[in-house]
Order: sequence, then C-alpha cells, then structure tokens
Amino acid sequence: MALIYTEDQKSLIEMVKDMAEREVKPHVAECDRTGITPIELFDPALEMGLHMLEIPEEYGGAGMDFETSAMIFEELAKVDAGYADTIVTTFVALRNVIIAGTPEQAQRFADVVADGGFACFAITEPGAGSDAGALRASAVPDGKGNYVLNGTKCFATNGECASLYVGFFRIPDVGITAFMFDRDTPGFSVGAHEDKMGFRMSNTTDLIFEDVVLPESAIVGVPGKGLNIALSGLNISRAFLSTMGVGIMQRALDEAVAYAKVRVQFGKPIIKQQMVQQMLADMAIKVEASRVLVNNTMKMIDAGMDVRKEASITKTFVTDSMQEVTSNAIQVFGGYGYSREYPVEKLMRDAKIFQIFEGTNQIQRLTIAKCLEKEYE
Ligand SMILES: Cc1cc2nc3c(=O)[nH]c(=O)nc-3n(C[C@H](O)[C@H](O)[C@H](O)COP(=O)(O)OP(=O)(O)OC[C@H]3O[C@@H](n4cnc5c(N)ncnc54)[C@H](O)[C@@H]3O)c2cc1C
Repeated sequence: MALIYTEDQKSLIEMVKDMAEREVKPHVAECDRTGITPIELFDPALEMGLHMLEIPEEYGGAGMDFETSAMIFEELAKVDAGYADTIVTTFVALRNVIIAGTPEQAQRFADVVADGGFACFAITEPGAGSDAGALRASAVPDGKGNYVLNGTKCFATNGECASLYVGFFRIPDVGITAFMFDRDTPGFSVGAHEDKMGFRMSNTTDLIFEDVVLPESAIVGVPGKGLNIALSGLNISRAFLSTMGVGIMQRALDEAVAYAKVRVQFGKPIIKQQMVQQMLADMAIKVEASRVLVNNTMKMIDAGMDVRKEASITKTFVTDSMQEVTSNAIQVFGGYGYSREYPVEKLMRDAKIFQIFEGTNQIQRLTIAKCLEKEYE
C-alpha cells in the first residue's frame, strides 16, 4: 500500500503476518478480556528473531534498518499493538544504551534480549509525566562507589515481564542520570498493575525502589545527562511507535471495508451508499498519508538525520488520525461496531493511548512550534 517494497521486505512482512495470524490472533480476545498475556505467547516472535531486529550486528543482532523494521512492526500491530509494543519497548530501552552506554553495557543488553528477555524504560513518576525533568526518584552516592536508589516509577511498559530496566534517577547536585539494572536487584520490586481501557496485551506497572544499591558501572552515559539521553532516544521511539498506529488503522480499514461489502441495508451493500464510501475514503486517506510519513521519518533516521521535529509531526499526525479512523470503523459497523463481539471497538480503545504515551500530542505540538521558532530565527 502506497510504499514501494523490496522483495525482501515483502517476504519478511508475509512471514510476520503468517506468524501473527496463526500464533497470536487466536489469543487476542482472551488477553484483552483478562489483561494478562502469558509470556509463552511471545515464543513464536522470539523464534523468528523479532526481538533482535534492532540490536546492532556487532552485538549479535540483526542490525536491521529502521525503515524495514517499522514495516514489520506495522504488520504485527495489525493483529495486536500491545503485543507488538512489548518488543518495541525493549528497543525503547535499548536506544538509550546504544546512544550513551559503553560497549560492555550494550553487549550485556543484547545478551539478555538474545536469551528471550524483555526490557523496560522507566522515567515517568506519579508527579512527573509530561514534565519528566521534575522526577524525584533519587540516587544518592554511598561514599563506597555505589548509588542508593529510592522512589517510585509508574506507567512502566513491560514493568512485569522485563528482565532488564533502564531507569532515570536524580543524583543530588548532579542531576538526572540513567541506570541499567536487573529484575532481581535487591530492594527493587514491581508494584501495582494498571487495569487499562485498551492495549491490554502490554503490561503496565509501578516500579518500587527501596534502598536499591547499584555500582557506578550501572550508570548509562554521563551522570546528570540522563534527560538528554532519554529525549534523544524518544525522538526515534515516538516516530517508531507511529508505525504500530498505522497497523491499527490499516486493520480498522480492512475490517470496515469487508463489513461494508456484506452488510445490506436499503436493498444493497452499505459500501454502495455514498456516505459510507466517504467514511471509507477518508479512512484510506489517513492510513496512506500516515504510512508515507512514517516511512519518510524512518528513512531520515536511517540516514542519521536529526528528526526531533519530524518525529513529533509524525507522532501527532498519525495518532490523531488513529482516533478518526478507528471511530469511523465503528461507525461503518453501526451498532455492531459498539459490541465487543466485533473487533473494531478494541481498535478504538487501543488507539487512544497513542495520543498520550511517549509525550502527549500537546507536548509534541509544543516541540514542533519550538523547532519552527528556531528554524525561522
Ligand atoms: C499505557 C501506558 C504506557 C506507558 N509506558 C511508559 C513507559 O514505558 N515508560 C515511561 O516512562 N512512561 C510510560 N508512560 C507514561 C506516559 O509517557 C505519560 O503518561 C505521559 O508522558 C503523560 O504524562 P501524565 O500521564 O503524567 O500526564 P500529565 O503530564 O499530567 O498531562 C495531563 C494533561 O495535561 C497536558 N499538559 C501537561 N503539560 C502541558 C503543557 N506544558 N502544555 C500543554 N498541555 C500540557 C497533557 O498533554 C495532558 O493532556 C505510559 C503511560 C501509559 C498510559
């Protein structure tokens, strides 16, 4: 659709589609109902090596380009975006280590992921969401070369299923600093699980730190520069998450067209009714435009370009479009669209989070405006 794919890209997309339809789709409704995704459900994705796509080759990964990787995660998100995001969030944490960590830290991260481990990126706190710079979780030097961590993180994707965490803490008189640590570190525990309206194949939890002692070698990058590291990684991450948004929208369009062809009212399939045609056409416009936008931003990332503004534009356009497209899918289904027996109401629930996480769309608009102000100086 809209993009020109290479033969390799086409065959990878087909393989992922086949795996997701066969191994994941049959479990989606139950996981959505319970909010619990058995960890074994990820085995087929790990067997395909999807968790290694973004790990650089020098650390044993596939080192795949962002353009192709995005196509693969769009496909996975068509079946379930929360499932896809469990792997994508591992990459969100990884990007911090690649940007600022040592080769030893990157290798350790890669080894844990190669063993089937997921990772978690934890910056948000109850009092610090959009204003991440206000975070209060502390890392205090103990005078013996270690840091003692205390505080609470919230809304941590993969909080429950991760083996490895990249968390952000304030060192007094130094500033926000990134630390990498294992699940079984003494004093660290996983807190309450969020009971979310959607995106329920992805687990989201609080993280609790009670006198967690970490060595200096757990610091990722320069102490005090943690916020810069996180924001650099998020420029890639918020563009990349948009590819899952395209997947959700494409699924909504696929479902709506298929239904409109078989639902008969006033003696003909509703796809022959002009106002239904208009809804479907508007949906297709948003899906295609979003896909092209994501693809262009991925190409810019692959070329090593600064995408601060483009990532915010992509995230905002795609995730705002998702609200219209998934809502229209329900409208095309009429009353049945509002029923849990049909797949489209879940797409609308899943879509909403995309306007909120990795920086709300209000914050993205502020970023775009700041970039414009600078560009026009
Ligand atoms: C399912 C889920 C998964 C998540 N995963 C992670 C994760 O893996 N790691 C992580 O660290 N965090 C994660 N988050 C947290 C997420 O990034 C935050 O929820 C988000 O950044 C917004 O913060 P907040 O919820 O505190 O809202 P607030 O910052 O309190 O914002 C509330 C409202 O005010 C608006 N607002 C705030 N400041 C301004 C401003 N200056 N100008 C205009 N409007 C403003 C916001 O746009 C929003 O509409 C996740 C959240 C959810 C729900």
